[in-house]
Amino acid sequence: MPRVKIAAGNWKMNGLAGSVSELDALIAGAAGGAEVVICPPATLIAAFAARARDSRVAIGGQDCHAAASGAHTGDLSAEMLADAGASHVIVGHSERRADHGESDAAVRAKAEAAWRAGLVAIICVGETESSRDAGDTLGVVGRQLRGSVPGGATAANTVIAYEPVWAIGTGRTPTLAEIAEVHDFMRADLASRFGTGAADGFRLLYGGSVKPTNAAEIFAVGNVDGGLVGGASLKAGDFLPIVAAAS
Ligand code: PEP
Repeated sequence: MPRVKIAAGNWKMNGLAGSVSELDALIAGAAGGAEVVICPPATLIAAFAARARDSRVAIGGQDCHAAASGAHTGDLSAEMLADAGASHVIVGHSERRADHGESDAAVRAKAEAAWRAGLVAIICVGETESSRDAGDTLGVVGRQLRGSVPGGATAANTVIAYEPVWAIGTGRTPTLAEIAEVHDFMRADLASRFGTGAADGFRLLYGGSVKPTNAAEIFAVGNVDGGLVGGASLKAGDFLPIVAAAS
């Protein structure tokens, strides 16, 4: 079965109540067959989810704690995100791995927590510039995939995003051939763990400086099933052409 592409937006620590106008414009303008997910800051999830109900835009969190509840000041559980109306959650974003020291084991536990709450986990992997320069891109991505993607992953509960750290927010992207190399590798690595049939179903997103100007060529690369988009997801005017490119 052909994989439905996904255009997912990661708003990071951006957005106030007034930003709902961008969501409204996205809901009004999104056409085509791609799945659309917006991950606003946690403060906006409930309002966005209420606004997006019965629309084609799904709402996600940007992180979750592995536990369902407890003494974890400042953290949010996957159950809380689901309760607020989220259907997805990003785990293992490189900014979380770098800023909060999240290990592959921690990311794996968060993905399992997402499933426990009925959320789709968007699990991020990607090499730093020094790892790429050292020729270790596939080594890093392979280790993160095996360490971060739990054995219970299915195409229905998991989306994987390849996000080279050096391409995030920099305006730099790998060549199309480099993206293809990593995505082909990820598909093969998943096949070796889950079997070819199961691996064929996983959506593998590319993330890192996706813009309206480069989305179509990136999404046309084999084994690229859409994008995880930061900066260019904040304005509907930028994100709508990316949604169209994924359709
Ligand atoms: C991201 O943070 O997931 C991302 C891909 O950011 P940007 O599109 O701004 O590079």
